[in-house]
Amino acid sequence: MKIVNPATEDVVADVEAADAAEVDRAVERARKAYAAWRQVSPGDRARLLRRFADLVGEHGEELALLELANAGHPIGNARWEAGSVRDVLHFYAGAPERDHGKQIPVPGGVDVTFQEPLGVVGVIVPWNFPMLIMSWGVAPALAAGNTVIVKPAEWTPLTALRLAELALAAGLPEGVLQVLPGVGEVAGARLVEHPDVAKIVFTGSTEVGKEIAAKAAAQVKRVTLELGGKSANIIFADADLDRAAQAAPYAVFDNAGQDCCARSRLLVQAGVYDAFMERLAEAVRGVVVGDPLDESTEMGPLISAEHLDRVRGFVQEAAPYLQGSCPGGKGYWFPPTVLTPDVTDRTFTEEIFGPVVSVTRFDDEADAVRIANDTPYGLSGSIWTRDVGRALRVSRAVEAGALSVNSNASVRYWTPFGGFKQSGLGRELGPDALAAFTETKNVFISWE
Ligand code: NAD
Repeated sequence: MKIVNPATEDVVADVEAADAAEVDRAVERARKAYAAWRQVSPGDRARLLRRFADLVGEHGEELALLELANAGHPIGNARWEAGSVRDVLHFYAGAPERDHGKQIPVPGGVDVTFQEPLGVVGVIVPWNFPMLIMSWGVAPALAAGNTVIVKPAEWTPLTALRLAELALAAGLPEGVLQVLPGVGEVAGARLVEHPDVAKIVFTGSTEVGKEIAAKAAAQVKRVTLELGGKSANIIFADADLDRAAQAAPYAVFDNAGQDCCARSRLLVQAGVYDAFMERLAEAVRGVVVGDPLDESTEMGPLISAEHLDRVRGFVQEAAPYLQGSCPGGKGYWFPPTVLTPDVTDRTFTEEIFGPVVSVTRFDDEADAVRIANDTPYGLSGSIWTRDVGRALRVSRAVEAGALSVNSNASVRYWTPFGGFKQSGLGRELGPDALAAFTETKNVFISWE
């Protein structure tokens, strides 16, 4: 597979794609490694994961530059991403010694529960945050005593391959963490179908997620799904409009809109619509799009020529209300774009996954909640208001897994993350993610 830098269109690497037979060999290695890995004492497993995290920290700049060259992330974002991978590994390194069961009172003996690892876990990763999303699956899976095979996205395998090398350098035994670049329909599909893979963690499109869920169901295989989104950013008339408008571009243009949490539907209360749009226009024009290596860059290119065509196709259907600027020439550039479509238009209902925000106005709280929930998705969203009661009422009413009030941020590795409705199944991150990588076993011991 030719790996291309999306900011320059230069080929930066040539990577071999694994076929189904290679996946089978990797599963066999992972199965053998599992027998030994689950016996490693909790303290030793924790120490190895901490060493892995420390090595990721030491190689942070290298990983950031690799992500920049492969996914086009601006250097500031890429550094944040590398630091976050380190932190996720450190967070779950603390888990092996704390992942204990319960003792439940019963007559005639003792009843205890054990958190047993599942076995071989497949982690299928998208291209938008390649190393970060990989770590969300890998860290808790390894901490819980599983072995892991990662299938990175076709376009972005480089940081995943480097992380696998760092894991070996940290002392993780061979076969505990493997990375197999390959085509989704070949390598990914084989991982899903392989009877010795106990669980699939899939992050990607809702369409592929449904296919994986159906195949997994045939084997009652465990799945965690993190899928698409069309999240709402709701601005009430009593909000701090300056702050809300300043924040709105980053709620959707971060990572050039290639973010499952992008608040790509902007709902503004009618009374402040004009005042808000004025402020929004100023903020959008201020977004710095360009060379990812430039420290002042806030938004990079899209991932590929195909994706650029797709985003362009959506915007061609609507007359943009406003577009910012972006570089011309080589690279898959698209400007920050604001649309004001009808709420039934495709640009308002479908995930574009580019730097495009669709704005509409609403009358009152009930109207805002109705529009926000009128979607098959339910991943994230924001609510801007100074009224605490309204913030709470709307937070409870919006059908989404990760909401923020007077803020855009919805992902912190120590809090749970995941989708309602067709945005996913299960939760990642936070203390509860470990449960997704273990089975609870109950044992009764008679004292009779
Ligand atoms: P995608 O579904 O095309 O691919 C995701 C991964 O699945 C890739 O590794 C791909 O090779 C693999 N794959 C494709 N077909 C497969 C198959 N039949 N069997 C097994 N594996 C297969 O998604 P993408 O275009 O890489 O990513 C963009 C999508 O991901 C967006 O919809 C976005 O919202 C979603 N996403 C969701 C989250 C979340 O946490 N909810 C996070 C990031 C991205």
